[in-house]
Amino acid sequence: MAITAAAAALRAAGKDVIGLGAGEPDFHSPQSAKDAGVQAINDNKTLYTQVDGIPPLKQAIIDKLAKDNKLDYDNKQVLVSVGAKQALFNLCLAVLEKGDEAIIPAPYWVSYVDMVELTGATPITITADKSKDFKISPAMLRDVLTDKTRAFFINSPSNPTGKLYSAEELKALGDVLADFPQVVIISDEIYEHILWNGEFCNILNVCPQLKERTVIINGVSKCYAMTGWRIGYAAGPVPLIKEMKKIQSQSTSGACSIAQYAALAALQSGNQEIPAMITAFKKRHDYMAEGLAAIDGIEVVPADGTFYLFPWIGGLIEKTNDIDDDLALCSYILDQAEVAVVPGSAFGTPGYMRLSYATSMDNIQEAVARITKLFKTT
Ligand code: PLP
Repeated sequence: MAITAAAAALRAAGKDVIGLGAGEPDFHSPQSAKDAGVQAINDNKTLYTQVDGIPPLKQAIIDKLAKDNKLDYDNKQVLVSVGAKQALFNLCLAVLEKGDEAIIPAPYWVSYVDMVELTGATPITITADKSKDFKISPAMLRDVLTDKTRAFFINSPSNPTGKLYSAEELKALGDVLADFPQVVIISDEIYEHILWNGEFCNILNVCPQLKERTVIINGVSKCYAMTGWRIGYAAGPVPLIKEMKKIQSQSTSGACSIAQYAALAALQSGNQEIPAMITAFKKRHDYMAEGLAAIDGIEVVPADGTFYLFPWIGGLIEKTNDIDDDLALCSYILDQAEVAVVPGSAFGTPGYMRLSYATSMDNIQEAVARITKLFKTT
């Protein structure tokens, strides 16, 4: 968001900035969702709803989890929130307090660390760099688990790397977690459907014994291009969902009524609009990956899905005068090439940068050309 703001300021000053910082699809919400939102307004569905979500939306989420993920949940195990973000924050507040530790694999989505810190608990990050394909191993996990660990975050496919954990990899991590019964597993699956390499697997598909302490986080923001409607959800054990609901009750009272009806229509639409989005993202990913890989000093690790690429830029930092780190390099790219990208440090992993390809192919071609030109002359 900070990079997008910096790019907007440059644009306002008349610069032709290409923004590759976006964390949201450049598609429109499904027509069925838009129509349902309008209908909800006209039907006067504009008052408070149940704190944990309107019953038909909760049922649609339960049906989705059964159909897409082969997982059984009931009404008391589901909570609709103001985006996946509120579901995650509710969960952090319900589980963590001062003295606790929460394990966060890096590169991580920026908000996890701040959310953990806001509860007073301590984030423990473990970094899996490009040599590990950005995925932590069971040994790395075991190394940081202690009797103070209360939560473990997993985000697959990942923002910012686009990497997917396979069923085998999840099983191996789950086997380690099985030895630490006090740890709540937070599985952020918001990019589940934006995937072209490999098959999505939930840790519970391979480690069903963890169900009593795993909370699935998902939502309609990314796969239905509905970020602005702010609808996410959590599915997990009753005692945790109950506590999360209490927190939600005293913070937002729940999600917007109109947006809940729109999300219901999106979930009922049967994922029809997702394949076209994936085809576009994959094409842009391939173009960007190939273009950046040709630049001396950049190493590209192809993504399995999402709309992000997270190349290593250590070689560029080394060869560019007066540039010492990824923050300075990304500022340099913004100033000189007028392309906005996010430094890897923001995701706990210096020496990398995140580029979003949730923008037109024309923009991507131009951005890659500008970055190529900038570093050819350096
Ligand atoms: N989790 C991850 C990994 C994300 O990248 C994002 C948004 O960028 C979210 C959660 C939050 O999504 P929502 O819009 O549903 O709050």
